[in-house]
Amino acid sequence: MILYNTLGGTRQEFVPHEAGKVKMYTCGPTVYHYAHIGNLRTYIMEDVLEKYLRYAGYDVLRVMNITDVGHLSSDADTGEDKMLAGAKREHKSVMDIAKFYTDAFFSDAGKLNIKTPDVVEPATNCIPEFIEMVQTLMDKGYAYFAGGNVYFDTSKLDNYYVFGNMNEEELQVGVREDVGEDTNKRNKNDFVLWFTQSKFEDQALKWESPWGLGYPGWHIECSAISIKHAGEYLDIHCGGVDNAFPHHTNEIAQSEAYLGHQWCPYWFHVLHLLDKRGKMSKSKGGFLTVSLLEEKGYDPLVYRFFCLQSHYRKPLIFSFENLDNSVQAYGKLVQKIMKLSKDGAPEFEAAKPYQDKFKAALDNDLNTSLAITALYDVLKGDIGDATKRYLIADFDRVLSLGLLEAADRELEKAAKAEAEKAAQQEKALEEKGLTKAWVEEQIAARAAAKVEKNWAEADRIRDLLLEQGIVVKDSKDGATWEIK
Ligand SMILES: [Zn+2]
Repeated sequence: MILYNTLGGTRQEFVPHEAGKVKMYTCGPTVYHYAHIGNLRTYIMEDVLEKYLRYAGYDVLRVMNITDVGHLSSDADTGEDKMLAGAKREHKSVMDIAKFYTDAFFSDAGKLNIKTPDVVEPATNCIPEFIEMVQTLMDKGYAYFAGGNVYFDTSKLDNYYVFGNMNEEELQVGVREDVGEDTNKRNKNDFVLWFTQSKFEDQALKWESPWGLGYPGWHIECSAISIKHAGEYLDIHCGGVDNAFPHHTNEIAQSEAYLGHQWCPYWFHVLHLLDKRGKMSKSKGGFLTVSLLEEKGYDPLVYRFFCLQSHYRKPLIFSFENLDNSVQAYGKLVQKIMKLSKDGAPEFEAAKPYQDKFKAALDNDLNTSLAITALYDVLKGDIGDATKRYLIADFDRVLSLGLLEAADRELEKAAKAEAEKAAQQEKALEEKGLTKAWVEEQIAARAAAKVEKNWAEADRIRDLLLEQGIVVKDSKDGATWEIK
C-alpha cells in the first residue's frame, strides 16, 4: 500500500515494523464539548485506514487516548484549560464533563459507523506512566525544572522540526492562540511535560509527583499511552493536520529522546473540513455536530459518504448544498441495491476483478473516491445480483456505508406500506359486501374475454367493477385494480 507520509512529505510504500502486524495510534478527543463534524472527518478517514489495513490482511492494533486532563486551549501551553472551561460553562465537575463528552463522542462515532479502537485509554488512568517518562527524560538530560514546571529542552535535539516540509501556515496553526511568553522556557519551542505551577488555582485534578503536586502536559499523554499499549515501535500515527505542529512534533521529540531510537515512521494527517468561514472549529462557536445534522433530517452515514467522496489529503468544503448532493447520490445507490435479487449464490471468480479495482484504489494513498467508483462499477457490472450483493458487503467492511442495511430498511418500509394498503382495501371491500376473491375472479374473466377478443364482455366486466367503485388499470404486465 502506498501512503503519503507527512514525515518526509512523500508517498511511500507502507511496510510495518513486524510483518503482517500494524500498530496504529490515534490522538483521541479532548472531552470538554461535543466533537464537531470537522474533527469527525479525521476519525472517519482513520477508521477507513484501519479497516482497509484489516481488509488487506494485516493484524491491526489501534490505540486511542481520551484527553481528560491538561489540554490548554492553545497547544503552546498557554490559554485556558479546556476541561476546566467546559466544567465552568456547564456548572459540572471536570470528571462529570469528561464522562458526559466521552459518551457523546462514542455515540457520534457509532452513528458514523466508526469502530471503537482496540484500546481506549483516558489520560487520567496513566499518571504513573507519565511520571516515569518525564523522570527518564530528566535523567537523560532532555528535560529541566524551572519555575515549578518540568519542560522538554528542544535544544537537545538535532532536528526538532521533523515536519519541516509542511508549509509555514500549517506550522502556525497550533500556536495561533499563544498569549504571552513563558519566561521559564529556555528555548521558544520548549514545552511543559509536568505542571505544578498552574495559572488555575481551582485546577481540579492534581497528582503527587517528584516535582510536586501537579498534572501532566498534553503532549506527554499520547507518547506514554502509545508506548504503554503499542510498545516501542509504532507503525502509523494518525491525526488531524492541525496536530502536526506542535503536538505531533513534541510527541516525536519526547518519545525518541525517551526510547533512544526512531518511534514511528509513518504519519497520517487528515486535512481540514472548511465552511464558508474557513476551517471549522469550536472556538468560532455555532459548530456543527452529528446531533445537529440529525435534527436537520440527515442520516449520519450520508455525512460519512460525503467525506469518502473526497481525498483525505484535500481540504473538504462543507455546505448543506454539497451534503444534499450526497443525500441524492446515497439514495440512488440504495434504490439500485433494493432492486437486486436476494436469490442465488455469488460467483467469486467474477467478483475478483472488482475487488482488485477496489484494492488498487485504496492502495493508492487511500483514494476513497475511487473506491466508491469501484462500487458504482459493481452495480453497473455484467454480473449476477448475488455477486453484486456479495461485493457490496465485501467493500462495506472498509467503507461502512451501511448500504445493504439501508436497502433492507427501505424494502421493509415498502412491504409495510403495501400490507397497510391491502388491509385498507380489504376493509373497503367488506363495507361494499364484496371480497377480494370475487374482484380477482372478475379481473381474470375480463382477461380471458380479452384473449378471446370479446371486447363487449371485457367492457361489461370493467363497468360492473366501476359501479362498485373499483377502477381497473391495464399495463403491459396485466391489469391492476384499486378502490376509488
Ligand atoms: Zn496526540
